Amino acid sequence: MALQIYINGEFYDKADAKISVYDHGLLYGDGVFEGIRSYGGKVFRLAEHLNRLWESAKAIWLEIPISREEMTKAIQDTLAVNNITDGYIRVVVTRGVGSLGLDPNRCSDPQVIVIADRISLYPEELYQKGLKIVTVSVMRNHAAALSPRIKSLNYLNNILAKIEGLQAGCIEALMLNHKGEVAECTGDNIFLIRKGRLLTPPQEAGILEGITRDVVMDLAREIGVAVLEVPLTKHDIYIADECFLTGSAAEVVPVVTVDCRTIGDGAPGPITRELMSRFHALTRS
Ligand code: PMP
Repeated sequence: MALQIYINGEFYDKADAKISVYDHGLLYGDGVFEGIRSYGGKVFRLAEHLNRLWESAKAIWLEIPISREEMTKAIQDTLAVNNITDGYIRVVVTRGVGSLGLDPNRCSDPQVIVIADRISLYPEELYQKGLKIVTVSVMRNHAAALSPRIKSLNYLNNILAKIEGLQAGCIEALMLNHKGEVAECTGDNIFLIRKGRLLTPPQEAGILEGITRDVVMDLAREIGVAVLEVPLTKHDIYIADECFLTGSAAEVVPVVTVDCRTIGDGAPGPITRELMSRFHALTRS
């Protein structure tokens, strides 16, 4: 059976799951989304993802036309109908069909889409050996212009950074903020270990407050590693003992080279490996 996609309460075969070309989600990137994981049939940190979705929607004056309970059911039904227990869930809410002008008041019908699919993580080898990343020239959106805390359908900022990273042969790329501080990668948050402490940029650096980021900070505290949310520079990364990225799709992935500098001894470090293993235990328990 073809993959079934949820749109506004109905299921459609993947090939027939379609949205109007007048939808402002397409015309202007006007909408919000979430990327969520399910492990062993259980949706991981669903409440946190729904909170972030509703907050993103609120920030752009978008009213999600169903309740959280209905959204929860839509997600569970989409997993069930596709027989997916371990997968990736994409929830999208668009502004809906409007006119060709910007005015969102002419959009009356936000579209709710839920896609559940099998996950493709980074290749297993990268979890063993670590990733190479580069800093790119594309600056993370200035929070005063468009807050990176909003997970909107307008991902061009991240896509331009991703293209630069790919051109440099890297599948993930590091973005700085307008002050030249480390912000985050195109679809992942960044962490460093230095002298036994875990460091990550604060929300004020202009980042998406990752849900995996929160989970990993909790795991670090559990094993007695101090966690600091502090402004970081590229220099802090170059001299770090360990570096890793977090995200719902990527989970916890080690980084061993940044801008052609070897991090630590060039292999995933002990705290990174411990956090990876605890994250694995938490999600697969
Ligand atoms: N930053 C950005 C820009 C992202 O797109 C993502 C992935 N959604 C993350 C960080 C990681 O967030 P999470 O752990 O909630 O998936």
